[in-house]
Amino acid sequence: MAPSLTRLDDATVAQIAAGEVISRPARVVGELLDNALDAGASRIAVAVDGDGTDRIRVEDDGHGLARADAELAVERHTTSKLSADAAGDALTAVSTLGFRGEALAAICDCATVELVTNNGDAVGTKLHVDDGEVTVSDAARGQGTTVIVTDLFADRPARSESLAGPAAEFGRISDLVADYALARPDVRFSLRHDGTTTFTTTGNGPRDALLGVYDADLARQATVIEHGTDIDTAEGTGSLDLRGILAYPSVTRMSREHVRVAVDGRPVADSGLRRAVIDGYDSLLAGDQYPVAAIDVRPPAGSVDPNVHPAKQQVGLRDRDAVETAVEAAVGDALSTADARRTEAAATDLTTKLDAVDRSDPFADLRVIGSFRKLYLLCEDGDELLVVDQHAAHERVNYERLRAAVDDESIPQATLEPPESVSVPPAAASLADAHADLLDSLGFAVEEFGGGTLRVAAVPAPLGRVADADALRATLDSIAADQQPADPRDALLAELACHPSLKAGDALSTAAAEKLLARLGECEQPFACPHGRPTVCRINEATLAAGFDRGSTRLG
Ligand code: ADP
Ligand code: MG
Repeated sequence: MAPSLTRLDDATVAQIAAGEVISRPARVVGELLDNALDAGASRIAVAVDGDGTDRIRVEDDGHGLARADAELAVERHTTSKLSADAAGDALTAVSTLGFRGEALAAICDCATVELVTNNGDAVGTKLHVDDGEVTVSDAARGQGTTVIVTDLFADRPARSESLAGPAAEFGRISDLVADYALARPDVRFSLRHDGTTTFTTTGNGPRDALLGVYDADLARQATVIEHGTDIDTAEGTGSLDLRGILAYPSVTRMSREHVRVAVDGRPVADSGLRRAVIDGYDSLLAGDQYPVAAIDVRPPAGSVDPNVHPAKQQVGLRDRDAVETAVEAAVGDALSTADARRTEAAATDLTTKLDAVDRSDPFADLRVIGSFRKLYLLCEDGDELLVVDQHAAHERVNYERLRAAVDDESIPQATLEPPESVSVPPAAASLADAHADLLDSLGFAVEEFGGGTLRVAAVPAPLGRVADADALRATLDSIAADQQPADPRDALLAELACHPSLKAGDALSTAAAEKLLARLGECEQPFACPHGRPTVCRINEATLAAGFDRGSTRLG
């Protein structure tokens, strides 16, 4: 049932930080999202036209409003989220996302607003607010609320002129909706821009949210964190909960914006908490790189004042030091148990030497002279032109590294939460069942699910390289071919070595090409990639001379 609305008294109004709430279209979206979440929505659809001043529409399936409450909702300083008499004490205890009771009114001040809502009655309510004129009518709508904001800042030229252009303003909105989607992975979000869906999330937890906001590859390379701990507070001990998702340190970005922090399910731009998350990654990140992470911090009840910043971005945290320390420690723990300490970067970088084999480097006298089609490195080697396939060469290097990393020991694993379904041919499914022990020793936790579907609860992740469905299929193929000398472990490692390897089209500097050749020279089998294809092709000067009808290979 929808709580009914109360007018705040003047003292409370004064106590609440003032300030103009609606500075740009993204602020409208933020306020409407807060309200939708406060209304208990499990589905929120956002649609934006242009830079957002044209039209913003936020639709939710929350509890909705009764007609009288809806009429009151667009008035200034009405809120259903505090009772007037208890307002003073309740200010720090309020659990909803905002309670200043001025957001809708402020939006109505600078735009045309249509609010369609139904709290479960047979007939819903439509409010049209234009220039202070409120028109009320019946509306057919299921339970929930839709707010459509048009002509934002139409009569405020100074505001609209200060906006940054459609791409930048929509970019802010998109970042903001992503912040919410990751802060509340239990809610289904969708975002459309000019009629095209930008992203959607399923409401099925943080990994799905990461997949929606970023992509499947990133979602795979991440660990879910769910952590409860006691912290020291001014009033004794209190419990702090932390949940979210952390991409492995191998996934990096150039700016800290991909570190998203929420407090009590509300995104905040809190530099201290963000710093704590980054510090949790500790030395796992190279100097100027930042991780991708989204965490929601739930500090002990009563220790958050959500209203210190008028745009509600910075939080007032009592016991801030204890909270930040706990966040940093929890992030560090989660990353180390996920065995993500050894990073993909370590597995693919060209600087770290391999344990060199006991022979001289076959490429010691090479000179890199160029590259062809950004795939073939051209090198002079005495009388010969050596052509190196950079992808095959890098695969070989990665493969030998992975092999060294998993030798003898069990292969490090990454847990998939929730387990992933992988469809395979029926024969492969029964093979997986029959060879469950072998798969287990390779790091796969696989169960046959029927209908050619496998449920995969864990995958091998040596050196932070997380196996995917293709790696599982490659492993099953090689188990199927068991008469041949194809070792499933080799097949798996070859597959894992492939993905982080240089591709055709990756331009290499001469220095990087030289490093690649040095690493290749350290390999036990430098002349073939792990799939058995050559890495190097030699062209003798005599071959060229013959091609040019030269009798001798010397100038003359
Ligand atoms: P506040 O959120 O600070 O209370 P707002 O101006 O944002 O103030 O909203 C005023 C009131 O309108 C809210 O307290 C709430 O009762 C109601 N309201 C606004 N949006 C919604 C929504 N999407 N679903 C249900 N109720 C809503
Ligand atoms: Mg609000």
